[in-house]
Amino acid sequence: MNELMPIEDARTQVLAAIAAPLPAEDVDLSDALGRVLAVDVVAATDLPPWDNSAMDGYAIRSADVAAAREDDPVPLRVAGEVAAGRASEISVTPGLALRIATGAPMPPGADAVVAVELTTPVAADGSAAPRGRDATGPLPAWIRVHEAAARSRNVRTQASDLQLGRRVLEAGRAIGPAEIAIIAAGSVARVSVHARPKVAILSTGDELRRAGSELGPAGIPDANGPALVALCTAAGADARHVGIAPDRLEPTLQLLRSALVDADLVIVSGGVSVGPYDVVRGAFARVGTVDLWRAAIQPGKPFAFGTAPRGGDQPGPPVLLFGLPGNPVSVFVTFEVFVRPALRRLAGRSPDALLRPVDMAVLEEPVTKSAGRRAFLRVAALRDAATGAPMRDAAGRVRVVLAGGQESHQLSALASADAFAVVPESVAGLPAGSGVGLWWLDRP
Ligand code: AMP
Ligand code: MG
Repeated sequence: MNELMPIEDARTQVLAAIAAPLPAEDVDLSDALGRVLAVDVVAATDLPPWDNSAMDGYAIRSADVAAAREDDPVPLRVAGEVAAGRASEISVTPGLALRIATGAPMPPGADAVVAVELTTPVAADGSAAPRGRDATGPLPAWIRVHEAAARSRNVRTQASDLQLGRRVLEAGRAIGPAEIAIIAAGSVARVSVHARPKVAILSTGDELRRAGSELGPAGIPDANGPALVALCTAAGADARHVGIAPDRLEPTLQLLRSALVDADLVIVSGGVSVGPYDVVRGAFARVGTVDLWRAAIQPGKPFAFGTAPRGGDQPGPPVLLFGLPGNPVSVFVTFEVFVRPALRRLAGRSPDALLRPVDMAVLEEPVTKSAGRRAFLRVAALRDAATGAPMRDAAGRVRVVLAGGQESHQLSALASADAFAVVPESVAGLPAGSGVGLWWLDRP
């Protein structure tokens, strides 16, 4: 079996192991960000709930001011005022106006609002103040209106945005800040969303030490544990790091079993190769089934995938097991290509929303890679010095350079990268000026 497995075949097998998204649960809106609606959201109110003013000005009857002109204003008596949050008890009858604030309910009888700028306030003794600029201060006794207003002018009509009982958002919609705003505006406080995938993360390697601890003569900091927690969290999952396992089957198995107790997906990094200390496949095989794939990806082969029953005899679909290569850049690439789509599927994203949108880029320098594998090069976009915006060529392609050394242990290039440039299996390199696909990465 020396053939490399095409990336799409590997991903298809991963996704085929997910029979359905995770079940729905009702949550407060404060816990809904990043989740996917399992049920339509229906408005619990009209929005606006009542006609209201779009301006600071005067609520009037449009018929009263039909003849108003700049030089020939119409006088109206000011009978009171309506503030936001208060309904007016006074009606606007012919010849009357009520001062009104933006967002205040339209008083009965009024059918339009004239902006304060189009009025001149007049005191009880008949003295006119300067043409209105703002609607503050003592109420004038009268106003002069300098322009006609059509019916409904400056009125936001009831239900013009949302309608009571009508759908606000559809099931399947991912919830971002704008969705939170419209759901709350529909006066809905709880929503039915798919559960967040629970992920347990395990680092393996005798050489690994927790970041910040003494490394000794042969230790390296565990970068993958914290990185995977961050990758999963950024992908909308609920992630925990269960620990660092040494390169021995029994302790690895013990941590794996504890990971299975409360997880939909387990990610183990390191120890998936075929060396004498690579015990992860053996551990996966003890708790479930596992395949070792040599996927046509650079970096990132080899890669183990399997499933296991939930720990503690809990019912539910099997837990997905991912064994990623230990090199931290390989972890990022295989996470992006295989794990993130699986997390999005579990979280309820539709099949067409599992992968990142692909942009177009042009290489500013030649690159080399292994033939037969699709390379995900860590690249940085050239940026406009003034705006910071990525620069594009005449064809609209983002101009990219390598972000640094491209070996799979080199985290500095990853940290300077904006994106992965995707170079196809068919070539062993590309000259400067070549077009490539671009996957933008999450940046803070
Ligand atoms: P492995 O896949 O276990 O053969 O590891 C490949 C390389 O990745 C080795 O150089 C490991 O030291 C390194 N490595 C494995 N796990 C981690 C980790 N959690 N953090 C940083 N480097 C790691
Ligand atoms: Mg190892």
